Amino acid sequence: MKLIFDKSVKGRRLTILPECDVERELLPEGERRAKKPLLPEMSETDISRHYTELCKQVHGVNDGFYPLGSCTMKYNPRINEEMAALPGFAGIHPLAPADAVKGCMEVLDTAASYLCEISGMDEMTFQPAAGAHGEFTGVMLIKQYHVSRGDTKRTKIIVPDSAHGTNPATAAMCGYEVVNIDSAPDGCVDLDALKAALGDDTAGLMLTNPNTVGIFDENILEITRLVHEAGGLCYYDGANLNAVMGVVRPGDMGFDCIHMNLHKTFSTPHGGGGPGAGAVGCKEFLKEFMPASALLSLMKGDAAEHIQVRSFMGNFLVVVRALTYLLMLGREGVPEASINAVLNANYLMQKIKGTFTPAFDRICMHEFVLDVADFKKATGLSALDVAKSLIDYGMHPPTMYFPLIVHEALMVEPTETESRETLDWAADVFRKLYQLGFDDPEYMHASPHGTPIGRPDEVRAARNPVLRWVPEG
Ligand SMILES: *Cc1c(COP(=O)(O)O)cnc(C)c1O
Repeated sequence: MKLIFDKSVKGRRLTILPECDVERELLPEGERRAKKPLLPEMSETDISRHYTELCKQVHGVNDGFYPLGSCTMKYNPRINEEMAALPGFAGIHPLAPADAVKGCMEVLDTAASYLCEISGMDEMTFQPAAGAHGEFTGVMLIKQYHVSRGDTKRTKIIVPDSAHGTNPATAAMCGYEVVNIDSAPDGCVDLDALKAALGDDTAGLMLTNPNTVGIFDENILEITRLVHEAGGLCYYDGANLNAVMGVVRPGDMGFDCIHMNLHKTFSTPHGGGGPGAGAVGCKEFLKEFMPASALLSLMKGDAAEHIQVRSFMGNFLVVVRALTYLLMLGREGVPEASINAVLNANYLMQKIKGTFTPAFDRICMHEFVLDVADFKKATGLSALDVAKSLIDYGMHPPTMYFPLIVHEALMVEPTETESRETLDWAADVFRKLYQLGFDDPEYMHASPHGTPIGRPDEVRAARNPVLRWVPEG
């Protein structure tokens, strides 16, 4: 399809501006741009068609099933958007005086108290703009805690191999040495490996739970007890709180801080790169290090004690959406959403079983991992080939080659907002593709067949991304 710049016609406009009726005032010479900006010149009709054409080339939750593991691509209720668009929320200025934005402060306060209740924490900040940013904030809290006690020999963070990839990256970003520990054969943390890794140099543990193979760690109470006994703190990666919200609370399991992805569990549209919010919660004793808003800390004159990870209050409208979602679900609806997410994942896993093999054949949480290794041995087709073939059926591929502990992994997360009919259809597609792999492997290896782009060079795309069109000359 043509770029918007290629469609541009010189002089074409959307609006006719009224004649200027005040005296013209030009910026001083040095402040003016040397060249006119290059902007597409188009009619409103053509712009509208351009973006509609772009829309047709992507797959979103509103187009069809989107079981992208670990990303919780659930349906985002429209009421959230209506609330986030209210002028009193959407039109505020970050420097507005506090008494002019009391309603907004109440939104932040109420959302914080609900999320504290759900996570079992005592304090919540919305400053971090994403999950990984939340992890960074949480681990910095752990660091501040140790430093404030003069306990500077704690240089290591323990990360199980079933953690989300952002966990070791976060620990390293915070200046820690990452100690990787293996999982036991049942997919849970190997307690002996944990005991061996713990010591007086342990700053803490980062645990993704349910972990990336969709398993709730059965020894979670023992894990947090052991880490605390060694003097470390426990960080809960709660990006995927969708499996447990309203059912169990990380705070009750012994965790000291947590992040939750509001743009996953709490239904802000995501996948296009933001805006998001990685709300971070902590226990009472870590409160003094939590990010304060720039404004509040300025007023209190104590900015120095708090870590600061972003300006102002974070992505406020994401919090409005999360609060709307929570109010709509209510006390009964929150656990019901999680219970249905877990039910849907188990239902789909059982219906696919017998063709593709689950990596861990046991009750899963909100997602499960298929191990395509056997299928590959028999047909020569990989997890990538299966993922690409699903596109031809109008399904977004699951997360591929993740977690790393399963080599031909497809990680499937159906979410609670899919109907039984959709899950039956999806299981049927998986079963058909399994058969197709044996009947016509060449066809499958060449898939997808019906998309503008089929198989881009993924390594090049990751190493040398071309994200911007640059005009000639
Ligand atoms: C998505 C996810 C993250 C990272 O969240 P971002 O908002 O993408 O930075 C971290 N941990 C887990 C378990 C996740 O699923």
